[in-house]
Amino acid sequence: MLPLPIFDHHRPRTLSEAVGLLARLGDRAVVIAGGTDLLPNMKQGLVEPEHVVSINAIEELKGIRIDTAGEERLVVGAGARLVEIADSVLVRLVAPALADAASMVGGPHHRAMGTLGGNICLDTRCRYYNQTYFWRKSLGFCLKKDGTVCHVVKGGSKCVAAASNDTAPALIALDADIHLLGPRGARVVPARDFYVADGIKNTVLEQGELVVRVSIPRNRDRRSAYEKLRRRGAIDFPLLSIAVRVDLSPGSSDRIDAADVVVSALGARPRRVRAASQCKPGTSIADLGRIFSEGAHAECKPLPNVDEDTDWRRDMVPVLVDKALARALG
Ligand SMILES: Cc1cc2nc3c(=O)[nH]c(=O)nc-3n(C[C@H](O)[C@H](O)[C@H](O)COP(=O)(O)OP(=O)(O)OC[C@H]3O[C@@H](n4cnc5c(N)ncnc54)[C@H](O)[C@@H]3O)c2cc1C
Ligand code: SF4
Repeated sequence: MLPLPIFDHHRPRTLSEAVGLLARLGDRAVVIAGGTDLLPNMKQGLVEPEHVVSINAIEELKGIRIDTAGEERLVVGAGARLVEIADSVLVRLVAPALADAASMVGGPHHRAMGTLGGNICLDTRCRYYNQTYFWRKSLGFCLKKDGTVCHVVKGGSKCVAAASNDTAPALIALDADIHLLGPRGARVVPARDFYVADGIKNTVLEQGELVVRVSIPRNRDRRSAYEKLRRRGAIDFPLLSIAVRVDLSPGSSDRIDAADVVVSALGARPRRVRAASQCKPGTSIADLGRIFSEGAHAECKPLPNVDEDTDWRRDMVPVLVDKALARALG
């Protein structure tokens, strides 16, 4: 059993108190929500904070609701637990891909404690990084922490650890906005712009900034679903994940207005499949399956950053795309 290192624990009650505290403590502090990823990472010496700031007592981060001011949007607080999201009738109605994704994170204990904000900000993962200090030292460390080389891409100068958060591809496919609050004020970043292709830190989140909530436009002609490949259906991180969104033409059941397929767990950032986002309005549902699965297979090339064979992961791309599309369209 790995022990937790010593740290100071803070528990602010309001958002402004939390933001002030994080600004004062700077890079000596990390935020903790459910702790289901942060605490194992601290035990493995991957994160070494002097201060841990819990956001669990902040009421402003909680809740799931429909915002009817202006364009109708589903609003989910960063502090909402994954089990609440998976079980929410509102989320299931407006954003089924998000409910699916939340329901497939880890096991029941992770979903009971884990939050949406923690999942959005989940650190990237790699078979050479998510290991104990002793293991990593024996290998010679790597670019992401304490070292100078990458063991996945030999001679590579960039970390390609995998974005492994289940909700990220779903939020991108659903056109979600991520609402942030930090020392420089509030800002809104579209989910599709929130992730960058750098496995060391793959988000645009700045020092001291918090994810406060997510908002998703409500479109009654929208269909969506999420599928994931993992070793054990009861607990594991994704080896490959796919979110699909189809906006039907109003009044039509066989023509579309727009579509998106987002593939993740391959590299540091979830990836939108170009062939899907370029589908023309009026494309028939009959053609979608072929466009989606051929496009996704051609554009996605898994790296050996997580366990399991890369060829098998690639072969499973069109299989999962077909499954997700079939489920989205009922
Ligand atoms: C065995 C195991 C299996 C798992 N399987 C999966 C899986 O299949 N899919 C998956 O996606 N995850 C998986 N996880 C990881 C984790 O359980 C989930 O990602 C969970 O949603 C993390 O949420 P949390 O609230 O516990 O985050 P925490 O662990 O508290 O935090 C995670 C990160 O987010 C930051 N953070 C948290 N909240 C905020 C916020 N509001 N604003 C800014 N930064 C914030 C923290 O500083 C930290 O860097 C697994 C973990 C374990 C141990
Ligand atoms: S991708 Fe390379 S640099 Fe990044 S964590 Fe893995 S081995 Fe380290």
